[in-house]
Amino acid sequence: MDPAPRAFGELPTDPELGVPVPFAAGTDVGYGDRPAGAPLSARGLDKRRVTQCALSRVCGVCGATLGRPLAFVGTRTEVDRLAFHLPPAHLSCAQALLAAYAPVGEAVLGLDAPPSAWVLATTASFEFVRPGRDDTDKRPTFQPSSALTEVTPAGR
Ligand SMILES: [Zn+2]
Repeated sequence: MDPAPRAFGELPTDPELGVPVPFAAGTDVGYGDRPAGAPLSARGLDKRRVTQCALSRVCGVCGATLGRPLAFVGTRTEVDRLAFHLPPAHLSCAQALLAAYAPVGEAVLGLDAPPSAWVLATTASFEFVRPGRDDTDKRPTFQPSSALTEVTPAGR
């Protein structure tokens, strides 16, 4: 059964990092990649949830249907490559996520850089691109297919 969307304030908390665990990281134990009994974690993304976000066009943070603009949270490298790993979110969800993660000085959400290097950018559409056989990065990416506008370099 697919999980229901949750408002940002109702997201579960990562017991180790103390930050909200977004929809795309898996908010229900026993669903997706996370076997029953495993702790919730904001460190990685849940592959099944990521795919669900892409195909159902739901927010990677709260899990509710997306409108426009689409907000991407990513690293400078992801912005430069126009390929994000974290699914798009509502702008308000993305802003709340960045605010919550600002004090965390570690790589989280499957990203390869700490939050100080995160950038928030908006666009109107995206393509979900699965990795090819020869790609070293085996994770699917979300690639903006409209103009990408940087809202803020979310650094310190
Ligand atoms: Zn949302």
